[in-house]
Amino acid sequence: MGRLLPQLEFRWVSWLRVRASPPPVRERVGNADQALTAWCVEMSRALNLPELAHRVRVSWNPRMQTTAGRAWWPDRAIELNPKLKSLAPEELWRTLKHELAHLVAYERAGRRHTDAHGPEWRAACADLGIPNEQPFHTLPFKRRRMKRNYIYVCPHCEVELRRVRPLGRNVACYACCRKFSQGVYDPRFRMLAKLP
Ligand SMILES: [Zn+2]
Ligand SMILES: [Zn+2]
Repeated sequence: MGRLLPQLEFRWVSWLRVRASPPPVRERVGNADQALTAWCVEMSRALNLPELAHRVRVSWNPRMQTTAGRAWWPDRAIELNPKLKSLAPEELWRTLKHELAHLVAYERAGRRHTDAHGPEWRAACADLGIPNEQPFHTLPFKRRRMKRNYIYVCPHCEVELRRVRPLGRNVACYACCRKFSQGVYDPRFRMLAKLP
């Protein structure tokens, strides 16, 4: 105990951030996930790691922005980004297994040093059913932003609206319609296409 290993973050983008110390407790508050925790407990038992089975916890952390998941040691905690819920279930399971593999690798290594995504981690991935897991991969979440090439302007307040697709003809400025015509569509505030 007391050994502090770098904390690993598995990012949407292809790079790894190493944390030297745990973040303040405030940042760690998440919503525990009983079902996913129970799954990790089962897996840890099956892999003969009773200490991990006893302590592993999975939670959702709404503060996570670009990180899909991360594992904390020696807390044996896994945090997941709630955005995973909007992706295909495989992404959630892959992220969970990826992070659990870190904890499995650390648990097995004991006091020995292990590289974050070294052979111990890869072996753990294989045991958890993701033998070809890559240290870094891009999730479908990280899509190229669509260019919003259509620009419209309200003739009254001059607010700008950017759209991927062109707007229909009768779209008016919401703010101005609310302010000057009781929220009813008013052609005076019809959004005008701005020429590039
Ligand atoms: Zn990792
Ligand atoms: Zn307006």
